[in-house]
Amino acid sequence: MLSTLASHPCTNRPSLPFLLRLSPPPFVPLSRHRLPLHSCHSCHASPSSLPNSSASLSLSQSNSKPHPPPPPPTTLKIAIIGFGNFGQFLAKYFSQQGHTILAHSRTDYSSIANSLDNTIFFKDPHDLCESHPDVVLLCTSILSAEKVLRSIPIQRLRRSTLFVDVLSVKEFPRSIFLERLPPDFDIICTHPMFGPESGKYGWNGLPFVYEKVRIGDSHERVSRCEAFLNIFKKEGCRMIDMSCKEHDEIAAESQFLTHTVGRVLAEMRLKPNPDDSMGYDTLFQLIENTCSDSFELYYGLFMYNKNSTDLLDRIYAAYEEVKKDLRRMVQGILRRQLFGTTGVGELEDPAARCEAFLESFNKEMVDLDENATGVHFVALTIGMILAKLGLKPTSIATKGYETLLKLVEDISSESFDLYIALFMHIKNSNELLDQLDISLAKVRTELYGRLHDILRRQLFDQPGIISNGRTRM
Ligand code: NAP
Repeated sequence: MLSTLASHPCTNRPSLPFLLRLSPPPFVPLSRHRLPLHSCHSCHASPSSLPNSSASLSLSQSNSKPHPPPPPPTTLKIAIIGFGNFGQFLAKYFSQQGHTILAHSRTDYSSIANSLDNTIFFKDPHDLCESHPDVVLLCTSILSAEKVLRSIPIQRLRRSTLFVDVLSVKEFPRSIFLERLPPDFDIICTHPMFGPESGKYGWNGLPFVYEKVRIGDSHERVSRCEAFLNIFKKEGCRMIDMSCKEHDEIAAESQFLTHTVGRVLAEMRLKPNPDDSMGYDTLFQLIENTCSDSFELYYGLFMYNKNSTDLLDRIYAAYEEVKKDLRRMVQGILRRQLFGTTGVGELEDPAARCEAFLESFNKEMVDLDENATGVHFVALTIGMILAKLGLKPTSIATKGYETLLKLVEDISSESFDLYIALFMHIKNSNELLDQLDISLAKVRTELYGRLHDILRRQLFDQPGIISNGRTRM
């Protein structure tokens, strides 16, 4: 922090003519002394430091009729720190609503910023902060968030800047904001529960979770907070005011599970059917939604959910149980045919019912498409695994998690008979099960491999780095 304070590099500043082209709203960047024109910006200074400010005006007129509070600002100057996949996605919507975007990222995204309205890319965070955004939106990966927050020269911002984050976990950013930001800064922690894929046709009806962690009680601060939340309201998001703690309790497991299933299915390289009559297009959407997100994001969900290793084990165990049920039943049916009995009392009735189902299935479904049946079989397998995990609906489900819940819902008591029938019908069903096994193992190895790698480097390449109790990612 001291080193960033000492240096004030004025290189890489965007050219002035370009900045002046930005409108609305009018503002003059790189000046710490001129106030931008919309109402929100007066909230940074105390009345005494600004003799002509609206605050002192209202004091001098306190004996006359009270003025109605000014309406919330219609446009904001929003700094997006972390201009990757999600940052760019948000910027498009923000700029379409007329807000001004000041972007900064580790990578130079100038050309992408140039292609968006009202958007400018700052290579140097000092220059960005000197442009005095109303809102600083932290949009970096979960794992780099703390490091990036520390690197922002906050001393160059106005005193009452509003800080917002959009990380997919919530208690962690809340605690680093409270720990690192001066008390003058306002804080909202948010989680737009959709991404560039699931939100590509608009945000209408999609959940937006937020907690107003700290908002000063002046009218301007409250209006600025409302103006920011209005961006999502205007797009039709389902606004959910929820504490970060509750969010994590509800969403940590469901998000990690959704991403795991999406990644495992992607590993299987299933082929979508052009005329999908079985309704499994949502399964392919799930794969698309989760795999278009970075591995970094998935890894962040893994690291910040303390139950994730346990959940991986439970998925494995549930899958083993599904396979055991399946093979036990197939053996039961065959034994009934060979010896007239399964030899296991409790299996007798289900095996008889299953055998009858197989007979009718065999008569009616001879011409089933092999690929479509394979997808159906895999979907049923996943549904059975999830049912064994005891998936529960939540008030803040992503589209992906809704797909998982639907799979479980589709599993009825007859599903197991159908499951056996599909297993018998598909020539390579055993191979499909093996592929699922391999895909699960691959995803797990990728996660654990990364863990091992990081800890190993810290222990043996730079010993002593974990001494302060925090591990570098
Ligand atoms: P991500 O992989 O989680 O994050 C990518 C961003 O983090 C990029 O801006 C990248 O900068 C930056 N970054 C990564 N490592 C860094 C490092 N060591 N130092 C500095 N910057 C670093 O993918 P994302 O989808 O863009 O997500 C961004 C945030 O939004 C995450 O916190 C995520 O949880 C949250 N979110 C994402 C979604 C979604 O669907 N994608 C939905 C809701 C919330 P460069 O590109 O400059 O390298």
